[in-house]
Amino acid sequence: MDLTGSSAIVTGGASGIGAAAARRLAALGCTVVVADLQAEKGEALAAEIGGVFAQVDVTNTEQITAAVNAAAEIAPLRAVVNSAGVGFAQRTIGRDGQVESAHDLDWFKRVVNINLVGTFDVVRQAASVMSRNEPDADGCRGAIVNLASVAAFDGQIGQASYSASKGGVVGMTLPVARDLAASGIRLNTVAPGLIDTPIYGEGEDAEAFKSKLGESVLFPRRLGTGDELASMVVECLTNSYMNGETVRLDGGIRMP
Ligand code: NAD
Repeated sequence: MDLTGSSAIVTGGASGIGAAAARRLAALGCTVVVADLQAEKGEALAAEIGGVFAQVDVTNTEQITAAVNAAAEIAPLRAVVNSAGVGFAQRTIGRDGQVESAHDLDWFKRVVNINLVGTFDVVRQAASVMSRNEPDADGCRGAIVNLASVAAFDGQIGQASYSASKGGVVGMTLPVARDLAASGIRLNTVAPGLIDTPIYGEGEDAEAFKSKLGESVLFPRRLGTGDELASMVVECLTNSYMNGETVRLDGGIRMP
């Protein structure tokens, strides 16, 4: 699918995988709406790539509507990347006993609300606008990529909320792709492994934590890059024969 002259929305576009995807989409000729909570980083990236920043909290349905409408006013909205997400707090990894603690219900709801419900809300609102696009030669009116995680398949202690939210993103992939097929919209999911982005925090502790994580990858012994993930995101968006797929991109971390 040729995205030249289209608009695109990248939620979570101010940072990490989303920012890398936004840069690649701009290079393909899209005007990108960088939709994020973080205004300073989002505005800087939008200026760099000739896009637009939209202050969006994906748990706020009106803000999603505003971003989708803004994109469609610029040009036909043909590409959406749902990269907005919160991870697990570093302090929780590997620490058991958290399932019993009362405050974790709030954290669980918050993570599921952002990662899963927010993603679904963007999908449904974007699809509604995309379905009015003129179809291309393949009958395609638009394409959507959601970011899940390998934690959807093999989460660790301390990751219950995150794994549940990402499992939901994987779980919705086939039914939603089937539903949107009638409108000529493709939907795929990318499930990253351990990727070097600000999601792990910043500073010495975060660097030490990431370096330890990198060692857990059998080969190559490193974290992935945002750009490696963005490359797969763009493949899912532009390859017209790809639909309803969940692609793991994880450096083979599942290999023992
Ligand atoms: P990141 O922290 O660099 O970027 C996430 C962005 O989402 C941030 O800019 C943040 O401001 C934004 N965001 C958070 N909550 C939001 C909300 N409610 N509304 C709008 N924006 C919000 O992280 P990343 O590593 O680039 O993660 C991108 C996606 O990939 C996430 O969904 C994450 O769960 C997933 N993922 C990342 C990794 C990894 O190792 N980095 C692994 C698996 C999956």
